[in-house]
Amino acid sequence: AKELGKSRFKVFNRKMHDQALQLMELETDLRRAVDLREFEVFYQPIMDITKRRVSGFEALVRWRHPEHGIIGPNDFISLAEDTGLVYAIDNLVLEEACTQIKLWQHALGVDSGADLTVNVNISGRNFGQSMLVSQVGRAIDDAGLDPASLKIEITESALMDNPSVAEDMLQQLKGLGVSVCIDDFGTGYSSLSYLQRFPIDVVKVDRSFIIEVETDTDSQAIVRTVFSLGESMGLTIVAEGVETKAQLDFLEGEGCQFVQGYFFHKPLTVEQVDTLLADMRLD
Ligand code: C2E
Ligand code: CA
Ligand code: CA
Ligand code: CA
Repeated sequence: AKELGKSRFKVFNRKMHDQALQLMELETDLRRAVDLREFEVFYQPIMDITKRRVSGFEALVRWRHPEHGIIGPNDFISLAEDTGLVYAIDNLVLEEACTQIKLWQHALGVDSGADLTVNVNISGRNFGQSMLVSQVGRAIDDAGLDPASLKIEITESALMDNPSVAEDMLQQLKGLGVSVCIDDFGTGYSSLSYLQRFPIDVVKVDRSFIIEVETDTDSQAIVRTVFSLGESMGLTIVAEGVETKAQLDFLEGEGCQFVQGYFFHKPLTVEQVDTLLADMRLD
């Protein structure tokens, strides 16, 4: 029995050792990826269903790994957060998204920056960074972008982790003229008082509620409440992760204006958006 225990321990150890090695390798790769800018930004359309058009995009990062191919953010953002690399990554995405939306605005000849907007995710790990707000300001300036074209997405849980730091940062962002979105709404704390306290423009209802509206009356009630709350507080509501006609019909019935999800479009490459916008102009 003793022998067996010992060999089991060895196997366990070897496995942990391998995992640790893999993680170290991934971290080395990620550092190199930041230096070499191995990231590509995809853009998922956010639809205005009342006007039946694209109102803007959410910028979503992907890592083009030289050996492993495309890696989605769920597989590297938390490592990037733990290693501090997420600051550089969010900045790359921010700069690229500002430059890109300006090009698309130009191509479409939009009159107001608010007519075609881009949403950029900022990790909660970057909230304490005093440089963050000036980086956002610089990205807008460098791109020659109307600040009304940029929306910064911050998750509900990141907000609540450190409310006073977050509030200060949101105030400063608002001072630049950019909008602030609460991402993954409904998955963090249940307190709604901060919707009043923080300078928020947009609430993105998390996909988990949208999935359930087809079958679950509680989720329907929650989504309905968020819409009426949005109306009375002057907040824009976006429904995330809409995949089916039934979900869309429910949302439309509740007076929803903005929808994001596979039902309309998956996250697209720059080339795919070029094509989409060219088709839009022909309509
Ligand atoms: P998120 O901010 O909630 O972004 C929405 C995610 O849902 C995206 O996954 C998107 O592709 C996916 N999605 C959109 N519509 C649908 C749908 O109809 N069905 C389903 N099943 N999924 C849908 P993605 O691109 O893999 O990103 C995952 C998360 O990674 C994001 O969640 C966000 O938290 C994070 N992330 C992405 N890009 C960045 C970035 O540049 N910086 C930071 N800090 N985080 C990022
Ligand atoms: Ca987001
Ligand atoms: Ca989200
Ligand atoms: Ca999410």
